[in-house]
Amino acid sequence: MWYPFSLFLDIVFPRRCLSCHKAGEYWCRLCQGLVVAAPRQCALCHVFTAIGQLCERCCRRHGFDTLWVTTEYHHGAIQQIIHALKFNFVSELAMPLGELLERSLPPLVGEWHIVPIPLAKKRQRWRGFNQAELIARVVADRRGWPLSTHFLIKPRQKKRQVGLTRAERLKNSQGLFVASLAAANRQIIIVDDVVTTGATLTAAVSALRAAGATRVVGLVVAHHFQKHSA
Ligand SMILES: [Zn+2]
Ligand SMILES: [Zn+2]
Repeated sequence: MWYPFSLFLDIVFPRRCLSCHKAGEYWCRLCQGLVVAAPRQCALCHVFTAIGQLCERCCRRHGFDTLWVTTEYHHGAIQQIIHALKFNFVSELAMPLGELLERSLPPLVGEWHIVPIPLAKKRQRWRGFNQAELIARVVADRRGWPLSTHFLIKPRQKKRQVGLTRAERLKNSQGLFVASLAAANRQIIIVDDVVTTGATLTAAVSALRAAGATRVVGLVVAHHFQKHSA
C-alpha cells in the first residue's frame, strides 16, 4: 500500500528540495540548516521578550506556562515544507520538521506528555493522517516521552477558522476541544505546525487545564504573522 503511493508521489511530485530544487530529497540537509530562528517576540501580542518566549501577560491571559515557536512561516522554505506535508501528503517531511522542533525545545525536567493538536475525525480520515501528530511523534521519540494523543479530542467540526478576525476566532474556538481526565496532574507539551492568532492553542490549553494538567507548554514550528491578527 505504502510503496505504490510513494511511487505515485515521486511521479506527480518529483523528489527535489522544495527550497533549492536539488534532486534527491524534498528538503535537503543544507536547506534545513538555513532555518532562521523566530524573532525574540511574544508569538501572540508581538512584544519583545528575552528569548522569544510568550510574554507574562499572554501566559496569564491564555493559561500557558510558555509557548516556544521555532521559526517564522515566511522565512525561507518553511511555508512550502509545511504546505507539502499538509496538502500534498508528503508525510516524510514530518521527520525534519519534528527534529527542528525538538532542537528548539530547551532541556526540561521530569516527564512531559506530548499532545498534538487533534484534527476533527472527518478531516483526519480524508487526509489519512494528522500532520501535528506526525511531527509530535518525532519530538516524543527523541526525548523519550509519551505521545499522548488521547489527552485531547476534537468532538465535532465547528465553523472553519479561516477568514475570521481574531475576536471571531477566539469566540469560535471556545469549547473546540475536550480533554481527558488522564491529563490530570501531568506536564504537557502541546504540538502544532503553525500558530496564527493562537486561538486553537488557547482552546487546547484551556481544555487541558480544566482536566487538571499542572503545566502546559506550547511548541510550534512556525509563527504565521498576519497584520490583522493582532
Ligand atoms: Zn535544498
Ligand atoms: Zn504577549
